[in-house]
Amino acid sequence: MDNPHPVISFDNTEYAFAYKTDQELKKANFLFSSMGNQLLVNLGTRFTPWAIKAGLPIKGLIRNTIFKQFVGGETLDETVRVANKLEQFGVDVILDYGVEGKEGEDNFDHATEEFIRVINFAGTQHNIPFMSIKVTGFARFALLEKLDAAATDKSGYEGTVHTEVLTETEKAEWQRVVARMHKIISAAAAKNVGVLVDAEETWVQDPVDALTMQMMELYNLDKVVVYNTIQLYRHDRLAFLKDSYRQAEARRFILGAKLVRGAYMEKERRRAEEQNYPSPIQPSKEASDRDYNAGVEFCIEHLDRIGLIVASHNEQSSLQAVALLDKKGLPHDHKHIHFSQLYGMSDNITFNLAKAGLSVSKYLPFGPIHDVIPYLMRRAQENSSVSGQTGRELGLIKKEMQRRKI
Ligand SMILES: Cc1cc2nc3c(=O)[nH]c(=O)nc-3n(C[C@H](O)[C@H](O)[C@H](O)COP(=O)(O)OP(=O)(O)OC[C@H]3O[C@@H](n4cnc5c(N)ncnc54)[C@H](O)[C@@H]3O)c2cc1C
Repeated sequence: MDNPHPVISFDNTEYAFAYKTDQELKKANFLFSSMGNQLLVNLGTRFTPWAIKAGLPIKGLIRNTIFKQFVGGETLDETVRVANKLEQFGVDVILDYGVEGKEGEDNFDHATEEFIRVINFAGTQHNIPFMSIKVTGFARFALLEKLDAAATDKSGYEGTVHTEVLTETEKAEWQRVVARMHKIISAAAAKNVGVLVDAEETWVQDPVDALTMQMMELYNLDKVVVYNTIQLYRHDRLAFLKDSYRQAEARRFILGAKLVRGAYMEKERRRAEEQNYPSPIQPSKEASDRDYNAGVEFCIEHLDRIGLIVASHNEQSSLQAVALLDKKGLPHDHKHIHFSQLYGMSDNITFNLAKAGLSVSKYLPFGPIHDVIPYLMRRAQENSSVSGQTGRELGLIKKEMQRRKI
């Protein structure tokens, strides 16, 4: 790989794994080696959710392996220990309370209260500037689907939630979703904590985008409180990013943009094929990379009005972002740029960026084991392709083990 940055390199594994003991490093080696086995991962990702539901005693095994690698803890208190350790290395934390796939008004209210509890806690810490939320954590999936289906312009930001398609009961239900969002964002604004709204499947994303933009218009006036997530593995999202920026400019708010490639590629392609509509996903990895890098460049060009989070494990994209900052003479600690990687992955990027004075964090999920299973299964899948992330992670771990002579 050509390094687009003349000075920074992600090769230093001593910095990357300084926070791990020899024992922890060996465990990571074992875990990533196991995840390289596609058959094992396929079986595991099918069996585990079922086994948890059936009440089989596998929690201990999960807790000591994949959970420990990718999750901060089952409670906020446990997670604090990880956050404190990361702080010693100049690394921030994005807290992610793991709620996925739980429906019902009581669960939605409970998730909202949890998000606020996380915000209140983050507000008291030095290195927790952000937390993340999922709108599906406090809104019924089918309600979002119905609103999404009613959106006519799929190519850009409409800013309108099409509530006219809802029944009276559903309209009231949507109002409760909006009220929950307000409650979360206003608590975050008061505590100076940024809220990153995760991007999800395309068939629920329109109302999520519209609601998030509405919140930005209210709360992102002189600082960035709310960030939308833009998935550049979608072929329409570079245009969407530019359109969002134009809206921010016209309405005089700061756009919060967390750029990702996207986590639901297989699912998106499968659904498009099954339901016979054009896939929303880019035709190739190169196309995703091209739009991702173009998105980063666009945001850095407009950093006065965009708060950018480069959320990626791609070394080239991360280095290119730093190179662009340098080219424009922008400081590494510019308040509108931040980098982030998932906890348990790409430590070489995180810790080397922190060493170079960039604002960088680990995305740190926490929650009871049964609640974070979908997240863990996504990590296992993502790390099971030999050519992809596993190869990268294993290579780095082995290099550090050799350096430590363990
Ligand atoms: C801090 C953080 C927050 C995140 N939040 C979200 C979120 O809210 N929503 C979400 O969906 N994801 C989220 N992700 C996951 C992210 O979208 C990616 O799945 C993951 O980070 C891998 O992409 P990468 O940029 O690290 O780079 P790489 O490892 O270089 O790229 C892998 C990605 O490229 C894309 N890709 C691979 N093959 C092809 C192909 N043949 N054609 C087209 N595209 C292809 C896919 O998106 C794949 O995940 C987050 C990631 C991080 C680090």
